[in-house]
Amino acid sequence: MSIERRNRIGFEFSEGSGSTMQGVNPVTNTMIPDKFFIATPEDVDKAMRKAQAAFHAYSTSNWNQRAAFLETIADEMEALGDVLVKKASEETGLPEARIIGERGRTTSQLRMFASYIRTGNWVEATIDTAIPDRTPVPKPDLRKMMVPLGPVVVFGASNFPLAYSVAGGDTAAALAAGCPVLVKAHPGHPGTSALVGEAIIKAAKKHNMPDGVFSLLFDNGFAVGQALVGHPHATAVGFTGSVGGGRALFDIAAKRPNPIPVFAEMGSTNPVILLPQALKVRAKAVAEEYAGSITLGVGQFCTNPGLLFGIKGEELEVFKKHLKNAFVQTNPGTMLHEGIEKAFVQKSGKMLSEPDVAVLVESDAQASTGQGRPTVAAAKGSEFITNPALHEEVFGPFSMLIECENAKELKECVKALHGQLTGTLIGEPSDFKVHVSIAYQLQQKVGRLIFNGVPTGVEVCPSMMHGGPYPATTDSRFTAVGIHSIKRFLRPVAFQNTPQELLPDPLKNENPNKILRLIDNEYTTKSI
Ligand code: NAP
Repeated sequence: MSIERRNRIGFEFSEGSGSTMQGVNPVTNTMIPDKFFIATPEDVDKAMRKAQAAFHAYSTSNWNQRAAFLETIADEMEALGDVLVKKASEETGLPEARIIGERGRTTSQLRMFASYIRTGNWVEATIDTAIPDRTPVPKPDLRKMMVPLGPVVVFGASNFPLAYSVAGGDTAAALAAGCPVLVKAHPGHPGTSALVGEAIIKAAKKHNMPDGVFSLLFDNGFAVGQALVGHPHATAVGFTGSVGGGRALFDIAAKRPNPIPVFAEMGSTNPVILLPQALKVRAKAVAEEYAGSITLGVGQFCTNPGLLFGIKGEELEVFKKHLKNAFVQTNPGTMLHEGIEKAFVQKSGKMLSEPDVAVLVESDAQASTGQGRPTVAAAKGSEFITNPALHEEVFGPFSMLIECENAKELKECVKALHGQLTGTLIGEPSDFKVHVSIAYQLQQKVGRLIFNGVPTGVEVCPSMMHGGPYPATTDSRFTAVGIHSIKRFLRPVAFQNTPQELLPDPLKNENPNKILRLIDNEYTTKSI
């Protein structure tokens, strides 16, 4: 197979429509020679039909077999070695060390889901046995468990070419749940996507998974993604990216004759509240830590701290001085692709043109083409409360310090915030005693509340919540990171008075998998 033939990576390859797309090296701003066929409407339909046809066999596959499939995907990704690392670095401008770390996170996620589905606990088997002699009416035998939804469409973001892309968290969770997956490759890293897609197909073949369990489709516009979300066989969407993209797909899914859920992880400004006593005792350390967090990965993290809030006074002035000292020494870096860089220039420029917004500090070095220049702006709390433009995310190394007149205004600012992935409080124990209501207010807005740390860095573990109220996500009840993200692609089914031989194994009296089950009669209503 030549690379030019790559179009839809399923169990077969098709020539495609004839039009092709290429990746771009953002450091040199040159086209990368490998070409990828853009999927046609027929390709979308064919891939969807195959996914639908694969659903029954895959969703009823043995958990151990499914777990082994996930582990082999991880092995195959690792077997790609330097080829994958260099390709991802070439297409995104991200350093190889960062890609190696991200690959570790991606393969660990796959292995983590493999271990989790072997336990069987994720099916949440719940049993209420019959009470035939209950009065006034007998109680039926009721048993409930989670089952997979069906084919899932996945969109990855440009800023995580591995961990939030083809074999990233959404794909791992959906495959673990028993759902076939169709990925729309991000045009920012098509070569990386193709390599990972082939690793998944190799693993699927090794484990005799049904044809259509996974497909990868390329496009450099919106047509393929929108056709996938609108297709009658699609049952859910996992999305990571911009608010505009996530919202557009959410609206398409809602307008379908049979609406489907869209789990979109989108924009967030990740507010940080700097409380006075903390600034009094450690302003320099906090300023240095935040200069690092704002510019980490050229600010291209969904948890980048885009808003800092403080109360006017001597402590905040000292913090500003240290932040300026630390920040002038930061360096511009290459952004992921031309579109992100253009959006950064346009959105940071627009923010700085708002009334009463001014530059507080910029890095000393000028940005070259394709780079983002680290910038911190400053604005008044009263402006933040009244001007919605100040709440917009500027994706990149940009943050804004909001200076409040007093604690009351700070609380009003927190009240005015949109939904966020994270909210951080920097404080001493005495701060937390005085400002307890601000912590409560912030909790209403976020998926993860952080005390004395930076929001960048998302631990992958069962207690992680990576999500939050809109516009951070389209459904604040679910996390996109960690084992519980599997819940997005499952739904509960109750079985009433079902003969033993027709029950799924986890619900049979003789439970062959010996999984944890909740026997729930204790909560049964005694009279109706
Ligand atoms: P993006 O531009 O929204 O692209 C994501 C994917 O969605 C791409 O495949 C894109 O296709 C597709 N897409 C976008 N708009 C669409 C539309 N209207 N219809 C159909 N498909 C559409 O996002 P990005 O530039 O890759 O990532 C940067 C953004 O992601 C930032 O705003 C960042 O905050 C956010 N992000 C959020 C998280 C999180 O977990 N919350 C994590 C990482 C990044 P095309 O490119 O082919 O058009």
